[in-house]
Amino acid sequence: MGAGKSGVASSEFLAKKGAIVALHDKKEISQWSQEACSLKEKYKVGLMDGKIPAWLLDQIDLVVISPGVPKSVIPAKYVERKDGEVIGEVELAYRFMKGQIVGITGSNGKTTTTSLIGELLKNAGIQCQVGGNIGTPLLSLAESTTEETWTVAELSSFQLETIRDFRPRIGICLNVTPNHMDRYDLFTDYAAAKHRLFMNQDSEDLAILNADDEITSSWAASLKANVTLFSTSRELEEGLFLRGRDLVSRAGGKERVLTTRDEMTLRGVHNVQNILAGLAAGLACGASPESMRETIRDFKAVEHRLEFVTEIDAVKFYNDSKATSVDATLKALEALSEEEGKINLILGGLGKNAPYKPLEDLIGSNVRNLILIGDDADNIESQLKGTAEIIRGDSMKDAVRKGFENAARGDSVLLAPACASFDMFKSFGERGNVFKSEVNGLKSRTAKNDS
Ligand code: ADP
Repeated sequence: MGAGKSGVASSEFLAKKGAIVALHDKKEISQWSQEACSLKEKYKVGLMDGKIPAWLLDQIDLVVISPGVPKSVIPAKYVERKDGEVIGEVELAYRFMKGQIVGITGSNGKTTTTSLIGELLKNAGIQCQVGGNIGTPLLSLAESTTEETWTVAELSSFQLETIRDFRPRIGICLNVTPNHMDRYDLFTDYAAAKHRLFMNQDSEDLAILNADDEITSSWAASLKANVTLFSTSRELEEGLFLRGRDLVSRAGGKERVLTTRDEMTLRGVHNVQNILAGLAAGLACGASPESMRETIRDFKAVEHRLEFVTEIDAVKFYNDSKATSVDATLKALEALSEEEGKINLILGGLGKNAPYKPLEDLIGSNVRNLILIGDDADNIESQLKGTAEIIRGDSMKDAVRKGFENAARGDSVLLAPACASFDMFKSFGERGNVFKSEVNGLKSRTAKNDS
């Protein structure tokens, strides 16, 4: 169910294994990707849009459901009630994977931490591959695993809803903050989905948890796995933490400085958290501290994650289009508040029903202008009125121009919208690219004016 990336990967995989496969999506087939449509020719996969007919429902043994499709849809419930199985692509992949898994979840920081761990392991000479929510479906990696392989997997809460036996040797939860409240009725449901990452672990496994996060730290005592905590706010008796500028690991009374903030190119305390989690995983996989230190020195922000774009007339531009939640925007504001100059923040898009109030204090102290765009602009304005000067942008071009024109020298213009992008763009990636190209357009116009 669901003819996106993971549905296509599952169909191909199962058909190659000899299963009779039908791929279903409620969208009309004319809107499916070329890849999805070609499955019929290549692997005799039946393609089905609209509703699944009742006669077919009765013949289904296994539903592989995409992360975008809620588990509560009627066909899935129907199959489950008559003893069929409903799982996701991650669970399916797990059943065919060899070697060991590092699973990474959390509300924010998954992609950054996943790609960092991939680099830490690879550069330490450990055989590994990276996939899951970050891009390459795990299923397309399954066949190339050996007993020696570490698979580093980014996992969303939607993907974790549909695992059953999936058991990572190392599970990481970076944080749990309100996100996707458009899909979950309760915050506790969302937190519970993330907690599933650890449900099959036992005493041979490791859970890496954020000691500063109320939810993840509350899990530490009750997990079957061994727990390593990390913190950027206090020194831990055991675990990894930030002391001044140093990233320190302490185990069995022994301490070691693994790297320092001055050696990182990633900005912000939130990225120190990601790196601490990454270092904890690297140590557990046997990566040498020397090699990890070098990797961290060379590791650059993943595109659209607080990515530095350019500087025009002493105004710096940052693209954090991936800040699709209030918490991610908060972290971006914190990171840039460590710098001199004020922030001109482009905020808005398709809202997720989470309150904007948590941004109030930092906006009050560090933001010069709020440039509001998209569907949720009115709602944001009503919640944040009085915290900073409010300007409306009717397009990204307009927002970039107004952000720049109203900035002072030494300021930054930051795109960190706290919202999804689908009201104006296809994806956060497209939104970030449009932002960057508008910024670069501004740069060439400014250069022309100068000459
Ligand atoms: P995810 O894959 O979980 O969405 P990303 O690494 O893509 O995480 O980052 C998403 C957004 O969250 C970016 O705006 C980034 O700057 C911010 N971010 C990254 N790490 C953290 C963290 N540990 N806590 C809060 N925000 C973070």
